Amino acid sequence: MAEFANHSIYITGGASGIGSAVAQAFAREGANITILDKSAKGLEEIKSLLGNQVQCIEGDVTVYEDHAKAVRKAVDAYGKLDVFIANAGVFDGFAKFENVTSEAMSDAYDILMNINVKGYFNGAKASLPELRKTAGNMIFTVSGAGFYPDGGGVWYTASKHAQIGLMKQLAFEVAPEIRVNAVAPGGTLTALNVIPPLKSFVKEIDNETKAKSIKRRNPLQIAMDSEDHVGPYLLLASKKSRAITGEVISSDGGLAVRGL
Ligand code: NAD
Repeated sequence: MAEFANHSIYITGGASGIGSAVAQAFAREGANITILDKSAKGLEEIKSLLGNQVQCIEGDVTVYEDHAKAVRKAVDAYGKLDVFIANAGVFDGFAKFENVTSEAMSDAYDILMNINVKGYFNGAKASLPELRKTAGNMIFTVSGAGFYPDGGGVWYTASKHAQIGLMKQLAFEVAPEIRVNAVAPGGTLTALNVIPPLKSFVKEIDNETKAKSIKRRNPLQIAMDSEDHVGPYLLLASKKSRAITGEVISSDGGLAVRGL
């Protein structure tokens, strides 16, 4: 039998990129998926791929009530919640702190931290009571930027460090019933959006240039696709990793051995 048959998984940002690949991987293993995402078009696409194995909620991760609704729908439709995956995020495009006006700096902080950090707080809070009932687990999508400089600008890098702090403290507080872990992808070819206040301070990069730059930066020289990261999510959600909590699995082509 498929490992996650009858499991109920709630994922944010599952309408595109890494979240979509992870949702599809869990669905292949038999799970039922609930997705919260703000992209109506992306949600339509994933619905057409996964059919009645997915239910889609159009909403905003910065709004607590949208998570509460998604959790309610997951439990109503599938009877329980086994795994929460915090994943929806936005990017700062490597904008240089010194070049950005103080007004744009402040607007960028509010928007990016709200989505990348408060979005994870909200989802964890809304999911927790149901995960207690199933002795379930949470997985956060973080980033190499949660460890190293030059994975983004200061806004993105600070947000990814904050996500790891949230993950570790939560893992401490909600043990022993619930495990909380993270996956840290390296640069990946997705549509990850640069937030509006920083757009005029960054250069748009086409996919070919992005692929070359990602390859150059990691020792395995992989221009990673979203599918390259699904393995660690499946492992962390599984009972096979019942002794793992408060941990980050890096899926980044070996940034830790990059050297300078
Ligand atoms: P993506 O843009 O393909 O997917 C992000 C999804 O989040 C989109 O479907 C988008 O609509 C949704 N989203 C954004 N803001 C939202 C909001 N306020 N409310 C609800 N949904 C919202 O990008 P991705 O690269 O797949 O990003 C997924 C995660 O992976 C993010 O946390 C990102 O930081 C992380 N990550 C990406 C890379 C990379 O190079 N692409 C590397 C490391 C980590």
